[in-house]
Amino acid sequence: MANAAYQDSYTVSPDIPDIGKDEVARKLMLDGLERRIAGQLSVIIPVAVIGWIASLTDNRALWMFLGLQIVAQLAIAGTSQWLRRAVEAGKSAAIRKSLWMVAEASSGIIWAAMMLDVGTLIGGSDAVLTTWVTILVTMVVSVLLAAPIAGIAFPLLGGFTAAVVAGIWLFGKDFSSFAELALAFMCIALFIIAKAVNLQAHKSCHDGIEVERLSQRLAEELRRTSWLSQHDRMTGLLNRSALHERIAELGNIPTPLILLDIDHFKQVNDSYGHGQGDEVIAAVSACIRETLDKTAPDALAARWGGEEFIIALPDCNAPDHQADAAEIAETLRSAVAKLTHPDWPARLRVTGSLGVAYGPASAFSAMFKSADSAMYDAKEQGRNRVVCADDRNGKVIKPARAA
Ligand code: GH3
Ligand code: MG
Ligand code: MG
Repeated sequence: MANAAYQDSYTVSPDIPDIGKDEVARKLMLDGLERRIAGQLSVIIPVAVIGWIASLTDNRALWMFLGLQIVAQLAIAGTSQWLRRAVEAGKSAAIRKSLWMVAEASSGIIWAAMMLDVGTLIGGSDAVLTTWVTILVTMVVSVLLAAPIAGIAFPLLGGFTAAVVAGIWLFGKDFSSFAELALAFMCIALFIIAKAVNLQAHKSCHDGIEVERLSQRLAEELRRTSWLSQHDRMTGLLNRSALHERIAELGNIPTPLILLDIDHFKQVNDSYGHGQGDEVIAAVSACIRETLDKTAPDALAARWGGEEFIIALPDCNAPDHQADAAEIAETLRSAVAKLTHPDWPARLRVTGSLGVAYGPASAFSAMFKSADSAMYDAKEQGRNRVVCADDRNGKVIKPARAA
């Protein structure tokens, strides 16, 4: 119970968890699928070129291949985004991935078929050569963009190889065997580059996740140390220096102070042990905070030391404020006097004596002295009561019952 405030406020996991291969693959897949749609834009150029040739020659087969290519591209967009949704939801996505790969491979094969058709239509001319090179470049871009995703390089490379073979078929007579060999090596080189891109992407993605985790951890640690520097670890209330800082920010705003000291606390320690004493301090702190949350949510509550607490009530005497500081002190006294816990010894009773002083936040030291001597008056008058240092209201709040 004593450390509940500490644990609730900042539990920081001790280690940064290991980054699994699956996690990296998942992130790469999501990034790659996102890029895939952008990569499809490059398809517009060869589609436009082939569309132009089809309209010039009015060739039905070419129109059909063009239609099939557009369907394949739509299938790629559809299956890749369908797959992305499954990966985002953490679902198993083997079927969706296979369908996506089939769509990618089909697109490659259709490119090759289009090439053959264009070639036979207008012969191995410069126009066909240009179309072929455009298709090859488009496919290289697709391969490199998708390369970070494991497995996707194969259908894309398959499509690229089919387009290369179609080109060799068309232009083979004009190519030297060295050029044909170079084209064959291009397929292998693209595979090797795709593999290198894949490995590099894995490493950067792993490092990226690690940096993200480290910075999250650092931010948590900063929050934790900032919390620790301002709060009392045992009770979760503000510590002295944090209270001073907050008070200093209030300037001349009327900020009454309440000092609360637990009565006969030494006896609690002596009769039931220090562990029980700690629990009482934590319970009184929680009771103070809960009561203030209901009556004066803007109040600053600090553990001044040992079993002494200080409550500052900024703007408490503002006209629209519901409760006066002395009334809030009385509510606190009454709440503390009712404190009990099933695990506590039956005879254990907790009460507090409270001193109240009025003044602006800038007069904190003088107000503190007044509240302190009012609190000692409360002790002398029999404890479990509230005494106001300032009698400007012409009243000293009397306890509901004597200690
Ligand atoms: P009084 O009614 O006059 O205030 O009597 P008291 O017994 O409360 O007197 P005093 O304020 O002098 O005693 C406070 C005691 O609180 C002394 C110290 O051993 C004990 N104490 C201070 N800090 C802690 C703490 O964190 N845990 C526990 N268990 N005891 C503490
Ligand atoms: Mg004391
Ligand atoms: Mg005391």
